[in-house]
Amino acid sequence: MIQRRQFLGGAALAAWSATSFVPVWAQNAPNLGTPELPAPGFARQKVGDVEVIAVNDGVARRPLGEEFVRNAPLAEVKAMLASQNLSTDFIDIPFTAFVLVMGSQRVLIDTGLGEFAPPTAGKLLANLAAAGLQPADITAVLISHYHGDHINGLRKRDGSWTFPNAKVHVPAPEHAFWMDDAKMNAAPEALKGAFQGARRVFADKPADKLVLLQPGAKVLPGIASIAAFGHTPGHTLFEVTSAGQTFTYLADLTNAPTLFARNPDWAVQFDMDAEAARRVRREMLARVAAKDALVGGFHFPFPAFGRKVVAGNGYAFQPVA
Ligand SMILES: [Zn+2]
Repeated sequence: MIQRRQFLGGAALAAWSATSFVPVWAQNAPNLGTPELPAPGFARQKVGDVEVIAVNDGVARRPLGEEFVRNAPLAEVKAMLASQNLSTDFIDIPFTAFVLVMGSQRVLIDTGLGEFAPPTAGKLLANLAAAGLQPADITAVLISHYHGDHINGLRKRDGSWTFPNAKVHVPAPEHAFWMDDAKMNAAPEALKGAFQGARRVFADKPADKLVLLQPGAKVLPGIASIAAFGHTPGHTLFEVTSAGQTFTYLADLTNAPTLFARNPDWAVQFDMDAEAARRVRREMLARVAAKDALVGGFHFPFPAFGRKVVAGNGYAFQPVA
């Protein structure tokens, strides 16, 4: 399933800054105005006995160039945005984590950019507080993959852990890839920042706090994981089931759904293995649309909750408030 030869190639590399832990694409574009942040920055849904809280970390605005969709002409990409009354000059990429409130457990899925964010992001803790949660309340953190917008918030600049009482569950193949010194040393300069970012967060993580999960296995009672390799080598989704209802966290299965759910065959520049990502995107979107399942995505428009419905050759995202 993993095609390693593709992982270190192509445009994905250019997406990462070699000198900083913040991916270039998470920085804001100059002269294109400021993205609007959701207010309030949290939203709640009930899934059986579980409460799911979407917690926004912010939004980055990036100029729309040829590189963003690797395998489609820019004119087609712009036409797709225009057909949805969206700007064709830039693309706004929100960052939204989720908290599962299950009995005494408070499970955070992905962390946002933390103290390594551009000015319009790094809002997760403020929005958690607005939703009534403190960092110490979080009992577990689940990580979908090791890109900076998903892990940087785990740890502060001074090295301290943001969620002191949480065990951190990470996909074993994702951890193995990014912590492999031979892979880092062999990686092009532009990708080294991402390897260094993973080390900043995880290098001296106490073994009793770090839980390596096998994608496809149950993570915690009521929470399953789903292997969705392609965006990164160990990219993993999470699904919570309660009283016959489900919520599926799609992580970075698609970047902006206005482009990559509508055209699941389009490859965002950050997909490290574009063909594996395309196949798993097709499979998972078909599955959640057939089930009419409640889904959430890290880069979906806030509140980032909704359903996927068939639209043409792809899927439209229908938000639920
Ligand atoms: Zn992401």
